[in-house]
Amino acid sequence: MKTPKPTLVEKIAESLRIIPGLNEPEGMEIPSLTEHGDLTKFPPPEKWDDWTEYEAKGWARKEKKNYSIVPTTCFNCESACGLLAYVDKDTEEVRKFEGNPYHPGSRGRNCAKGPATINQIKDSDRILYPLKRDGARGSGKWKRVSWDEVLEDIGGRMRKAMKEGRQNEIAYHVGRPGHEGYMDRVLKAWNVDGHNSHTNICSSGARFGYNIWHGYDRPSPDHANADFILLISAHLESGHYFNPHAQRIIEGMMAGAKMACMDPRLSNTASMANYWIPTYPGTEAAVLLAMAKIILDEGLYNEKFMREWVNWEEYLQAKHPNDEVTFENFILRTRELYAEYTPEFAAKEANIDVAQIVEIAHEIGKAGEKFATHNWRSAGSGNLGGWCVARCLHFLNVLTGSVGTVGGTSPNAWNKFKPKFFDNPPAQKFWNELHFPNEYPLAFFEMSFLLPHFLKEGRGKMDVYFSRVFNPVWTYPDGFSWMDVLQDEEKVGMHIAMTPTWNETAYFADYVLPMGHASERHDINSYATHGGTWIAFRQPVLREAARRAGKNFKFTYDVNPGEVWEEDEFWIELSWRVDKDDDLGIRKHFKSPYREGEKINIDEYYQYIFENVKGLPEKAESEGLTPLNYMKKYGAFEVEKSSYNKHLTPISEEQFAGSNIDESTGVVTKDGEPIGIMIDGKAVTGFPTPSRKQEFYSQTMVDWKWGEHSTPTYIKSHIHEEKMDREAGDFPLVPTFRLPVLIHSRSANAKWLTEIANRNPIWMHTSDAEHFGIESGDLLRITTEIGYFIDKVWVTEGMKPGIVACSHHLGRWRRPQDVEGNRWATNTVKMDKEGEVWSMETINGIKPYESSDADSKRIFWSDGGVHQNITFPVHPDPISGMHCWHQKVRIEKARPGDKYGDVSVDTSKSKMVYEKWLDMARPAPGPNGLRRPLWFKRALRPDESTYYIDDKSKND
Ligand code: SF4
Repeated sequence: MKTPKPTLVEKIAESLRIIPGLNEPEGMEIPSLTEHGDLTKFPPPEKWDDWTEYEAKGWARKEKKNYSIVPTTCFNCESACGLLAYVDKDTEEVRKFEGNPYHPGSRGRNCAKGPATINQIKDSDRILYPLKRDGARGSGKWKRVSWDEVLEDIGGRMRKAMKEGRQNEIAYHVGRPGHEGYMDRVLKAWNVDGHNSHTNICSSGARFGYNIWHGYDRPSPDHANADFILLISAHLESGHYFNPHAQRIIEGMMAGAKMACMDPRLSNTASMANYWIPTYPGTEAAVLLAMAKIILDEGLYNEKFMREWVNWEEYLQAKHPNDEVTFENFILRTRELYAEYTPEFAAKEANIDVAQIVEIAHEIGKAGEKFATHNWRSAGSGNLGGWCVARCLHFLNVLTGSVGTVGGTSPNAWNKFKPKFFDNPPAQKFWNELHFPNEYPLAFFEMSFLLPHFLKEGRGKMDVYFSRVFNPVWTYPDGFSWMDVLQDEEKVGMHIAMTPTWNETAYFADYVLPMGHASERHDINSYATHGGTWIAFRQPVLREAARRAGKNFKFTYDVNPGEVWEEDEFWIELSWRVDKDDDLGIRKHFKSPYREGEKINIDEYYQYIFENVKGLPEKAESEGLTPLNYMKKYGAFEVEKSSYNKHLTPISEEQFAGSNIDESTGVVTKDGEPIGIMIDGKAVTGFPTPSRKQEFYSQTMVDWKWGEHSTPTYIKSHIHEEKMDREAGDFPLVPTFRLPVLIHSRSANAKWLTEIANRNPIWMHTSDAEHFGIESGDLLRITTEIGYFIDKVWVTEGMKPGIVACSHHLGRWRRPQDVEGNRWATNTVKMDKEGEVWSMETINGIKPYESSDADSKRIFWSDGGVHQNITFPVHPDPISGMHCWHQKVRIEKARPGDKYGDVSVDTSKSKMVYEKWLDMARPAPGPNGLRRPLWFKRALRPDESTYYIDDKSKND
């Protein structure tokens, strides 16, 4: 395409230097990738090592830029979409990120958070060097230290704890995971039960509900091939697996699928749905059971699947021992069981239309095996008994036989790749009751949000506490209790905050260690984005660009900005130092599989994994590459195009040999462990439950003292309408929803994202606002069980009347003494504590500031939102262990003297609420003195001997 000659106006503008010269020589023209209106083209991979394109900022001069294009993956939510980093060959800097078309999950597309990675890596406030506190903890004083000093100090302290048998005082607490087994391997090598995670404030309610059915804890909906899609809240589809799911939902809908979204808030996803079901929060399970009743009563269920794959015989034998064990009797009894869940009952409970429930139940019945469902945070994580929502939702999948089918809902594990490691240390011989206390034997993950209370009670201490991309002071409920314990050196001996950016928890650390953003670190990723399976490689792109340029370096921090490192190499080096005399049995787990006796390096670690991915070595060889270099080049590999019905996988002859078959149940066991089930005379894998079937009836619930929930049930939430005093101003608050462009703790340094979303008002329906006589922007005092916060109201028709909601993303803060970080989004606050009462007030909102980024002077917003989570007490669900986020709040107009952003919390009340909920628990032991059912998954599963409470010798 030839450049047209400049017009007269352009020539004048050029001479006045308003625009750059258009007549200067430019050399060869670059062909356009978007010619003919085709926007789907990407630079071809054979040119990624040497790609030239015009510089957008150089307009109208055709300034050429030469790039090395390096694939990596996004780190801004779990789904790890593919990114291509454009590394400027002249400056050796990343200029921008675009999608990677070779990534099977994201297929070249990203949400706003993907390309905004460029903001994060160029943030002028970022932490570039390891820092050590230089004053009292929390004083805000820091000094730069070397990585060598960091490793020596932390390694020595860990070594001492291990030598003294204090393994349970070492913990690694993860916020954003994404390592695929890396850290589990490290912790096992250390022989510490030290894994702690954020999962019980995130997803374990839903996980428990799925697990109790079929031993898998997450769903993988096949949206693209579905006929009907039912989403319980939009959380996943508008925030978490946002882009990969959203694109497949749209594909499914374009092919004729209908979608329903159950959410009291008209989310982006609900606004695109055929049915918006604005249920009263916490009543979702009642509505789902009403749909199940219609499907049962009208015979819309999939009899073949139910007969073969539901443990109905076990149900009849346990609950109706005098009945003849026939499928017909099972259906009769099940219809009786759910007789009370009429559409009228559910509609009244949820305050929705009866007709909508009936219509959607019919649509589900019609969709049959092509019924895709999902449930993540919101309802599952909001309510006492929230886990029942996932259980009742999956009940609909079971009834329709849409478990594992094309267009249905598979277990997540079927669409997730598991890496093979070069070395597998044995399971640790410790059980840490600070993470898995006996009060919560069924808790699906660690009771991480109770840690401050456990430490205050003196149940133990943390001598070496790593927080990794984790910010509980701000993200968790009861953040002031976290501040209490993090400042107490008796309770937390050494706190190491490993983070790519400043956060409220890092202010209370001893070391702040700068870890890489997406393009500065190694990880492998695999997520259930659709009905296939893929593996992706998150790699430090400057390292790969340097390798391509033939440069020498040792560690990733040699090529990253400043001395930003990555965890992978850090853990290898730290483990080596901990076992400095090679007498703890740790070093042997960090030796190269390729160089006898030498310490492994990070290339070798991934080399081994990629050499053992089915099909990858052959694919790489076809291009003359090693598997590692194939992944460095393309960034992703499709392991299985589609993976359905894996429960029908035949047991191999080798496995079958020497096994036993239970005549009455058909369960195949080997060495005492169930390995499959006989179906139609064939031995197949089935599901990883005791019955190897879908467990409509759960003997586990009976055995662990929760027999009233042996079958799918509805539990009234702690914020049920019955608990509200409406005259006094009580409302249920839904505090869990995501804004699609923000990340919990890591978007405050992304200027594009904070420009789009920078406030979190209270969503309130027009009719409720009229009742209060308020308008958008007016101040409200929101009182929780432990304190209050002052926020603005946003009056909208997009909220169910009688319910309020507030996004949890905003209200980031720093104190005057803290390092200036995340200034795009942090309010400066003043904090005080009188007795047990903490208060926080905003001194300054967001302001323009001088920095190396000219945009920081152009900040036009001043509102950074309000920190609501810190005013919530802990609400541990007594069964799943999930923190139940929803709050019963009292709403009133702000009082005289109340200011926007004010927060007040009484931590003595936090303790009282914690104890009240603790009283609901039904502690272990279960059968045989167990702490936990053996068949339940557990993060970083320890040696089986530790599962028995009385076997204390194993913990000595
Ligand atoms: S959905 Fe968005 S934030 Fe999540 S990985 Fe993909 S691009 Fe990143």
